[in-house]
Amino acid sequence: MSKIRVLSDHVANQIAAGEVVERPASVAKELVENSIDAGARRVEVDVEAGGRRLLRVADDGFGMTRDDAVLAFERHATSKITTAEDLARISTLGFRGEALASIASVARVELITQTEDATEGTRVLIEGGRMRDVSPAARPAGTTISVRDLFFNTPARRKFLRSEATESFHLTNLVTHYALAHPEIAFTLTNNGREVLRADAASDLRERAYQIFGTEFLENLLAVEGGHAQVALVSGYVSAPRERRTTRDAQYLFVNGRYVRDRMVMRALSEGYRSVLPHGVFPAALLFLDVPLEEVDVNVHPAKTEVRFRRAAAVADAVRESVRAALNLNGYLKLDDFDAASERLHPHANKTTDTNARAGATRDDATLDAHTRSPSSNSVAPDESRESAAQSSIEFGWTPAAEPSWREEDTHATASPSAAALDALARSAPRAATHDDNVAREASNAQARTETRSSETPASETRAPEVRASSGAPPVALPPLNSAAALVREAEVASLTPNIRPLGQLEESFIIANDAEGILLIDQHAAHERILFDKYNRLEAERAVESQQLLVPETFDLTPAQAAAFDEVSTELERYGFGLMRLSGRTVAVRAVPADLPASEARNLLAEILDTVDAEKRGRARATLREEIAASLACRAAIKINTPLTVEKMRWLIDRLLLTSSPTTCPHGRPAILRLTKRDIERGFHRP
Ligand code: ADP
Ligand code: MG
Repeated sequence: MSKIRVLSDHVANQIAAGEVVERPASVAKELVENSIDAGARRVEVDVEAGGRRLLRVADDGFGMTRDDAVLAFERHATSKITTAEDLARISTLGFRGEALASIASVARVELITQTEDATEGTRVLIEGGRMRDVSPAARPAGTTISVRDLFFNTPARRKFLRSEATESFHLTNLVTHYALAHPEIAFTLTNNGREVLRADAASDLRERAYQIFGTEFLENLLAVEGGHAQVALVSGYVSAPRERRTTRDAQYLFVNGRYVRDRMVMRALSEGYRSVLPHGVFPAALLFLDVPLEEVDVNVHPAKTEVRFRRAAAVADAVRESVRAALNLNGYLKLDDFDAASERLHPHANKTTDTNARAGATRDDATLDAHTRSPSSNSVAPDESRESAAQSSIEFGWTPAAEPSWREEDTHATASPSAAALDALARSAPRAATHDDNVAREASNAQARTETRSSETPASETRAPEVRASSGAPPVALPPLNSAAALVREAEVASLTPNIRPLGQLEESFIIANDAEGILLIDQHAAHERILFDKYNRLEAERAVESQQLLVPETFDLTPAQAAAFDEVSTELERYGFGLMRLSGRTVAVRAVPADLPASEARNLLAEILDTVDAEKRGRARATLREEIAASLACRAAIKINTPLTVEKMRWLIDRLLLTSSPTTCPHGRPAILRLTKRDIERGFHRP
């Protein structure tokens, strides 16, 4: 008896729904894309209960005839392509013809649609994939699709839905994306009757960005304009270096108007900020890539959030160089840095810090194909080795030695606390680790981590050239001090005694100390972070937080996504000493900040928490969320690197550090103390 059976359409649709319909936001994505494909000028999204109970998208697009309205729910029914050749040149957002069929198989769907010239419209009711009713209806030209009780017939899937707040966050994020991609279309999003986003038709991206993010965000944007028509035209905005985030949540990427999350493009964007932003800190970006239709495959993933570029490396070059050009144009990159970035021919040219910059910047080239690389970024030659290298490697995680200007300001800042200096301080590296960051770090070994730490600090001529290896790969430029570097290890908690004596500071960033066992290097920032982290947690637990009132409350505007996060975390923030008030709309006032936290850090900190504490984390236990907050707070309030310390202060730091819950690590799990034992010193000098 034969065992193989062809699945019924109903089962096939539910399987497809598994890929296309992950959560309410993915339903919204398909519906909004359909509205855009239908030429809508106005798209209204309404949700209830995070989209589980109701998700409705109404548009004023060209609508459907009665026959089409029924056909639309058939699997592989689409008006957008006809032949396989069309797949190679897809200009619409949809093309797979499976979204409506998939959605209808796992929800109760009502479609009401009418075309411009028809005298009456059509209403189609379909539940769990079963057509219930088709009847005449009336509405102005356009289409309204209401999706109710998502996953009502697939309880297993329903269980995977996150909290209402999490799903709302994703929905907001989704609508924000499409609103940015199409300034000419008016968008509204209402959640449980409350308007979350409203953007009237705008004349351009800038105006749209203003509608969504407010003036402040706009002031920090630099226009990007670059690339090549044959490869990728790059346009949009990136943030000035003072705008910094610990996640990529504020990076909005579009390829031919399609919202994507493409790691390669994100990486290229980060590379553009090399030497301008430290590792682990991300710029905001609204970046649009226009790629010839036949150069990009959008049919890679059922949800169409990933694309594949035929010439990935050339696209990455275009993105990186366009971003660097924008930074250069606005004075954030010195011209020679810029040149170095664009020629990048001879990574081994000379031996000073300059070499470091190149070795880091062109890691792939240095290891793989320094010679095949063409001199200009105009290169469109397909180069497979480079492409695969670019696609498989992770962040370089590296700040070149060439001293970026804000670092210099940073150093001055510690000397004179003027307003400008405080501002510079606010811009100095926040060390909050992102999830990616942690994963990457876990993947690399202790030694690689050591290198990362030191490479985050401003380098000088004396620094050994160290480049953090991407996970799995061996370090690139081996430091001349390699033999000794291998001997420096993370200190064991058990080895620490109160007999640690500070000897001095290395580069005003690391405390050099000794004890009976040998030499200790203590990261002053990490150490202080740990101390403050424990303190904040203790005070919070004892309900004894101290806060300082601000003379003048600071107000600022949240993005829609941040506003969604705000409602979730504001009470937690207050437990740590923030005094917060939600003013009208998405404006928030900060009236008090936790003791120890410089007031100038309040804004950055708040943005950081609202961005970092992403949807998944917010769904997790309160305790985890509190830890996140305490860690961010500690990071912001802790002594920065490049800060001179007196011996007393070093003593104090060491003593307090030893009393903490985990003296050898910072709250993000990075090492705070390294040890070089006497034994290893002797070995290093080849003494028996
Ligand atoms: P796809 O978008 O991949 O073609 P869908 O299942 O999303 O597949 O939609 C099927 C068809 O239904 C579309 O090709 C389009 O013709 C029609 N359609 C869906 N939504 C709308 C809408 N909002 N306005 C007009 N036509 C629509
Ligand atoms: Mg579609």
